[in-house]
Amino acid sequence: MTDSRKLREALLQEAQRFYDQTPALQTFTPWPTDLTLAEKIPDTPPDINPALDVMQNWQSEQPFHQAIRRAINVISWRQTYSEAEVGRAFLDAFAYFELFGPDGLFRTNEGRAYVGFWGQGLFYQWHHHLAEEIYAVVSGEACFEAAGDPAVTLGPGECKEHASLQEHALRTPGSPTLSLVLWRGEGLAGDPVIS
Ligand code: ZN
Repeated sequence: MTDSRKLREALLQEAQRFYDQTPALQTFTPWPTDLTLAEKIPDTPPDINPALDVMQNWQSEQPFHQAIRRAINVISWRQTYSEAEVGRAFLDAFAYFELFGPDGLFRTNEGRAYVGFWGQGLFYQWHHHLAEEIYAVVSGEACFEAAGDPAVTLGPGECKEHASLQEHALRTPGSPTLSLVLWRGEGLAGDPVIS
């Protein structure tokens, strides 16, 4: 087994351990049973490197956080949004990857999971998507805003759900944050749309 493969397997193991320790995630959706390591994943575009440097410099005792840092160079990181949509400052400190799903590091048709990193001081604009969603903060903290819900600041192990098409946003005034995000229901293959 190559090192790259080992790092990704270790990352999945820590993700599942985090899931197993977080009851709200288990209630939201089962862990997929058909996960297979993707043979080939797209390279991370070089313009994401500034954001990954910010992430790499952020240490944590959290084992899932540590597994992500160790695997940082064998993950297919993405940003999806354009500079026109979200601004340069946001793109310099934001990145995410699909942990499992149709295009994930691990392939499955049973669900979709992302890991997102937001540096301190960002505003992730109001957006929506068809799939239902749950965020679980892995490390750091973030303020979650969603249409019809009170804004709430959450730390490690705490969760926030978003209904299908519910508008939501995220701020990181006090700390960077790393979150695990699970999707379920219709629209699993879709992307978020900035409102
Ligand atoms: Zn969302």
